[in-house]
Amino acid sequence: MIRKNRSMMRRATLNPMVIMAGGAIFMALVALVFWPRNTRPKAQQNTLHLQRASVAAPTQAARVQPNAQDTPSQTTASGGLKTFQTTMVGPISLSFKKGGMETKEATFLSALAARLLIWRVNLRNEIRRGDKIEVIYRPVDTQSLYEIIAMRYNSTKHNRSYAFYRYQEPGRRFAAYYDAEGNEIEQKLRNAPLREYEQVTSILKMRPKHKGVDFKAPVGTKLYLPFRSRVVRTTWNFRFNGNCLEVAPLHKPNLRIMFLHLQKIADGVKVGRVLPANAVIGYVGNTGRSTAPHLHYQIMDGRKVIDPFRFHETYTRALPEEQRAAFQQHRRQLDLQFPTR
Ligand SMILES: [Zn+2]
Repeated sequence: MIRKNRSMMRRATLNPMVIMAGGAIFMALVALVFWPRNTRPKAQQNTLHLQRASVAAPTQAARVQPNAQDTPSQTTASGGLKTFQTTMVGPISLSFKKGGMETKEATFLSALAARLLIWRVNLRNEIRRGDKIEVIYRPVDTQSLYEIIAMRYNSTKHNRSYAFYRYQEPGRRFAAYYDAEGNEIEQKLRNAPLREYEQVTSILKMRPKHKGVDFKAPVGTKLYLPFRSRVVRTTWNFRFNGNCLEVAPLHKPNLRIMFLHLQKIADGVKVGRVLPANAVIGYVGNTGRSTAPHLHYQIMDGRKVIDPFRFHETYTRALPEEQRAAFQQHRRQLDLQFPTR
């Protein structure tokens, strides 16, 4: 999907408005959606990680629900869900504000929308003025403040509409987002460092200066070694990286694979040791410069950043057959709640 997006970018017609909007969208997206409210340090070290997501710790005041006066585009759906629709006039957060959403809500909700949309639309250069977005969401008592229950995005660039439905599959630890056919929205890595995680909260094309992929997962989630590897170093630059681990995979010994912000490194993981693939090497944490529990997973070839979604084999997970009827029923109920049907 990443490669396809790039070739699409090259073929894009050079409409001046598109170019201007594209630049503005990207800059504003970075500024509005992914930057924390605190000041940014001047220099980033090689493996410095800033959890620059939308999840700057909310104040109590921030939790007060906005919008006593609903704008025309904002309504309350059944079951305590809220709905919102607007057309894109620039970056998602700006579009939400122009569409009548209160600033804080727009900032938080647009960050969540971006995490989903990034799997279908390149946010840097494929958002077009006039694209339509509809969101069904609800306030939740977590750092992200809101949870998207379903979303629809109509892409002028792709000439099609994308749908996203949150669904909790029985027996699984976390809910996930699926398309209308019951295929999971996020791509999965084979030999993934985590077997269970809540969501991928950052991929490389979302934040170009961020060198890794972030997996949101609870503290203590087991971390597995993706490939047979030699341990190169452990816990350097604790202030930024927290407890961390760097390994060299034996089949590509020049590469370095890093795991940051760990709660702890597993026993027996010592510099110089060769460990088999699938060995438990540590546990997800929130150490170093990190604002929420997650794994930062980074692959380097010298100074060059390697995209884990290219280095690993990837796949799309579909709901198992026996879940499809329940999912479709859930989806049809949500479809009835979108502002436009
Ligand atoms: Zn990260």
